[in-house]
Amino acid sequence: MEHSRPRLARTVAAVRKFVAEHRSQGQQIGLVPTMGALHAGHLSLVQAAKDRGDVVVVSIFVNPLQFAPTEDLDSYPRDLDTDLALLGTAGVAVVFHPDPASFTPALAATTVHVADLTDGLEAVTRPLHFDGVTTIVTKLFNAVGPDRAYFGQKDFQQQAIIRRMVADLNMGVEIISCPLVREPDGLAMSSRNAYLSKTEREQAVALSRALRELRDRWDGDAAAQRRWLRDALVDAPGVTLDYAEIIDPGTLAPLEGTHPGPAQAVVAAYVGPTRLIDTISLKEGPPDAAGS
Ligand code: AMP
Repeated sequence: MEHSRPRLARTVAAVRKFVAEHRSQGQQIGLVPTMGALHAGHLSLVQAAKDRGDVVVVSIFVNPLQFAPTEDLDSYPRDLDTDLALLGTAGVAVVFHPDPASFTPALAATTVHVADLTDGLEAVTRPLHFDGVTTIVTKLFNAVGPDRAYFGQKDFQQQAIIRRMVADLNMGVEIISCPLVREPDGLAMSSRNAYLSKTEREQAVALSRALRELRDRWDGDAAAQRRWLRDALVDAPGVTLDYAEIIDPGTLAPLEGTHPGPAQAVVAAYVGPTRLIDTISLKEGPPDAAGS
């Protein structure tokens, strides 16, 4: 079905005005925060919001606060026209695309920091990354005022941190975590996959292949299975392992010994210069608790 292009809000005042118009008609608002260069993983979050009957607001903002100086802020893929066309077809009402100079001014003095959950995994290689994420997500929540916000389980640590932040600070936004969407051969969809050469693209499948094999062989022996996972990835051609962990999906703590309960495997690895992450549930936990 053809849809018109979404309305484009470039300022906080503009997005508030658009959202207020929808609210005055009794509609609820679902926010999907993204950095653009959209793919089917992002669109699955939009669909989840539509399935709940939300008016969908997508933010597109390459957040400078979550990139270290050595990382790929400048080269991160940006294609607003294609994104707007995709979001129009997907039936999105409003796109919030603020200007970095005004949305993240250099003189800002406030950071939102979530302790503990931000200590390991991604944070070892990217120590300030999550402060950048939680600060910007707070700003997006304050700008848009959504009833619900949708995040991908692909960024497993991120969605746990945001859930915790929302609960700790009584943000009143319901957090919905959506399943990871993969390419047909298993590679986790990511805007950064565009960086991969043909050979690297083939090598990158090693991550999802190892995770699927791990899920099939999971017997609760966390130490032995983690060793197996690390060996599988260290041996994979073209892959340089950053970390491979088996964690409690609620606390994100690495599992030790034999563990009959819920378990999640998380990995990060470089394929060529590109850093990729992937994750799989080895044993499901209780259903997601809603943020409050
Ligand atoms: P990003 O634009 O990469 O910052 O991602 C924006 C949102 O989309 C985050 O909540 C991600 O977890 C989610 N996302 C990214 N890739 C995928 C994927 N392959 N499957 C599901 N969600 C995803």
